Amino acid sequence: MPYPCTCGGTLKKSQCAVEFFGIDFGLRECEICTSCGSEYLSQETMKEIEEEVKAKRIFGLERNVKVSKSGNSLVIRIPKEIAEFMNLKKDGLLRLFPVESRRLEIEVLGD
Ligand SMILES: [Zn+2]
Repeated sequence: MPYPCTCGGTLKKSQCAVEFFGIDFGLRECEICTSCGSEYLSQETMKEIEEEVKAKRIFGLERNVKVSKSGNSLVIRIPKEIAEFMNLKKDGLLRLFPVESRRLEIEVLGD
């Protein structure tokens, strides 16, 4: 059931881009206040996301790594925990996808 916003405004069903812990959970059903713009996720959606986080064990997986050099290329080491989580093995194929000038996404294509 929809609750009114704390500002007294009315909530309208919409889709919100959800991000927690720097992880993109995509567009989820939400309600947006038509007067102040506050976004509300339903308890169900919050539960779903919590379950997904637990299932994926993505808590605490992020790591800082140093770039090293090999020949003309730069090398980054992928920590064991992340490699295991992503089922990434030696000779596995990755796609590097620069999202912005300071953000690089890596997709695991398989082996
Ligand atoms: Zn509001």
